[in-house]
Amino acid sequence: MRKGRLFVVSAPSGSGKTTLCRMLLDKFNTLSYSVSHTTRAARAGEVDGESYFFVDKNKFNEMIDKDDFLEYAFVHDNLYGTSKSMIESMLASGKDILLDIDPQGAMQLKSKISYGIYIFIVPPSISELKERLIKRNDTDALDLRMHNATQEMMYVKEYDYLVVNKELERAFNELSSIYVAEGCRTNVVSNINSLCDINH
Ligand code: 5GP
Repeated sequence: MRKGRLFVVSAPSGSGKTTLCRMLLDKFNTLSYSVSHTTRAARAGEVDGESYFFVDKNKFNEMIDKDDFLEYAFVHDNLYGTSKSMIESMLASGKDILLDIDPQGAMQLKSKISYGIYIFIVPPSISELKERLIKRNDTDALDLRMHNATQEMMYVKEYDYLVVNKELERAFNELSSIYVAEGCRTNVVSNINSLCDINH
C-alpha cells in the first residue's frame, strides 16, 4: 500500500481557505482532514472532534510536555497543534491528509517532513482582505488579524504553490489541479514498474 501524502495549506484569515479546503475534501474521497487541537472556544456550529479537539490550556501543555504534537503554534491568542499519532496512523493507512495550519506550524513541519506539499492561499490584495473581513462581520480583533495577515504573507516563498483566491471557482480549479498533479509524480505512482515493463 502506498503511503499517504501530506498537503499543508496556510492562508491569512479571510482568504477563503476554509471554503476551498471543504470543497477539496468533498471532491476527493482519497483526502482526509487533520483535526487539530486548540485552546480556543468552539464557535457556533463547531463540533468537538470534527472541527477541532477543543481542550483547555492544561491539557494542551500536558500534550506539549509529552511530545504529542508534530507541530504547534500560538495563533491569534490561542494555541493550536497537530497530533503526531493521528498523522502517523492516517499516513500509514495510505490516506492523503489535508492540514489547515498557520505558517509557523507549516514551517515546523517543513523542517521535519520534506515530502509534504506546501500550498499558500492569498486574497487578491490586502485591501480586499480587509473588506472581506468587515463584510463577514469578522471585525473581532480586526487590527490583530490584519497585522497577522501581513506577517503571514512574508512566508509565501517558503511554500511550493501559491493560489490567489480572486474568484472562488478558479482558485478551486487551481487547488484541485495541484492535488491531481501531485498524484501523477513518478515517485508516487505505486505500479510504475509494471506500467514501464514493455513485456507486461
Ligand atoms: P481558526 O481559529 O480561525 O479556526 O484558526 C486560526 C488559525 O489557526 C488558522 O490560520 C488556522 O490555519 C490555524 N490552525 C488551525 N489548526 C492549527 C494547527 O494544528 N496548527 C497550527 N500551527 N495552526 C493551526
